[in-house]
Amino acid sequence: MNISELLSRNSRKYPTRQAVVTEGDEMTYRELNEKVNQLANSLKMRGINVGDKVLLFMPNTAEFVISYFAVLRLGAITVPVNAKLSSDELSFIVHHSDARAILAHEWVWETVESIDPGQLLCVKTGKTRGSWKSFDDMLNEGSKEEIACTMSEEDDATILYTSGTTGQPKGVLFTYRSILTVSIMMCVEFEMKPESRILHMMPLSHSAPLHLFLIAGTYAGTTHVLSPTFTPEDLLKQVEQEQITHFFGAPVAYLFTSKLPNIQTYNLTSMKYWVYGGAPVSPAEIAYIKERLGTDLLHCVYGLTEAGPSGTLLAADEHHQKGGSIGKRGALGTEIMIVNEEGEPVDTNEVGEILLYGEGNMKGYYKDPEKTEEAFINGWLKTGDLARVDEQGYIWVVDRKKDMIISGGVNVYPKEIEELLVEHPAISEVAVVGVPHPVWGETVKAYVVSSLSSNELSTVCNEFLKGKLASYKTPKLYESLHALPRNATGKILKQPLRDMTQEVNL
Ligand code: ATP
Repeated sequence: MNISELLSRNSRKYPTRQAVVTEGDEMTYRELNEKVNQLANSLKMRGINVGDKVLLFMPNTAEFVISYFAVLRLGAITVPVNAKLSSDELSFIVHHSDARAILAHEWVWETVESIDPGQLLCVKTGKTRGSWKSFDDMLNEGSKEEIACTMSEEDDATILYTSGTTGQPKGVLFTYRSILTVSIMMCVEFEMKPESRILHMMPLSHSAPLHLFLIAGTYAGTTHVLSPTFTPEDLLKQVEQEQITHFFGAPVAYLFTSKLPNIQTYNLTSMKYWVYGGAPVSPAEIAYIKERLGTDLLHCVYGLTEAGPSGTLLAADEHHQKGGSIGKRGALGTEIMIVNEEGEPVDTNEVGEILLYGEGNMKGYYKDPEKTEEAFINGWLKTGDLARVDEQGYIWVVDRKKDMIISGGVNVYPKEIEELLVEHPAISEVAVVGVPHPVWGETVKAYVVSSLSSNELSTVCNEFLKGKLASYKTPKLYESLHALPRNATGKILKQPLRDMTQEVNL
């Protein structure tokens, strides 16, 4: 089955239903399908064929949606990348993915301009520049005739590059089957219907926005409201104006929005699913978001790119008791197991690694059989996330294995410290990392965004943590920063913080 067949079906079933809404413009499913055919035919005329990789370097725009489905209609492989990448990051992916074409948005022209296009077919929205073809000319040149689909479920459909928070980005390869399975399951889990209206503000180049919302919503025939950027004000404005029913955002997007003073002036009653995920969030933060947004409709998804990103779900009604947990069951079609070092399922409250088994799991890392082999154990995906299961069977992520600090032979989980520190009124953001220590191996350092100086932090925070945290976990060093380094999806990047940190001198 070809994913773009979902569009052909929608253009027959719901020809006049709004498919895509952007600022000042909209397209029905019939119009979208016609444009997808035009671009697919045009790319084919220029030599793009089944199996070729086509890079999409675009923010959330109508052109992104047209391009994504057009490339798949051809049987070529989509490689959507975050439009905020730097030219070095983009260059790395262009070469690593063996891209044959790049479709870019003019808003990111400055980044694109600096890469060496070599033999690539280069297409950009807006005016033609140099050897770059115009997106509109490509559309106009292509026929509206539908290309017959020859792809099977086991064929490769998409490569998504990981955000690189734990090293160089890896190309995660998905087949049609895995994408369709997770998206159909999420369509069911989030009760998407033709009358649903999904707001896409998180980059569609990432697995949750793309598979769990764009493809899942297309399966249901929903309306996609696209926003190329996120601002807290815009989120609330769009929900009200566009009568949004579903929104997915990283926890940081919810936290920033919750800080707005005038939330009550917006009518948010159209919302049915406020979905968050992609990074940890503490019980206190969940309670704060619920209270500020005035909603009981928060849903959590846990997953990772390699799982498509289908992992677990914590439904809205479970948040009263278990906000901060990632739930107790795998999302439909996904099984979960938490194992200790010996590979045995853990006892209650024992910490182990989360393994996932499901159709959504990647086929492997592109061109990296070694890392692919390391990523699985007996067909189960190793997530690299450490978690414990409570007495009621709910799973709590303790931290990422790679972020764990070992101080004097004892495991310290930064997330536990971060969750406590962020409750201090003078602290708005915090990231805890391990610093090399000549005696203990590592010691704990907190990078903090606060009005307090580094010296003041040390006294104030240690006083605040007294009685709440064992002394070996209490940070020995504090540094005040204006902002924490984050990637394009808002995740905190710990590596640059570790790189800033020198070994402690005794
Ligand atoms: P890279 O693999 O390059 O380091 P990345 O890990 O940031 O990039 P993602 O696949 O986007 O790439 O992140 C998945 C990770 O995010 C999970 O392994 C987990 O650590 C974290 N995560 C995702 N959802 C949740 C959640 N609901 N609660 C806690 N952590 C989460």
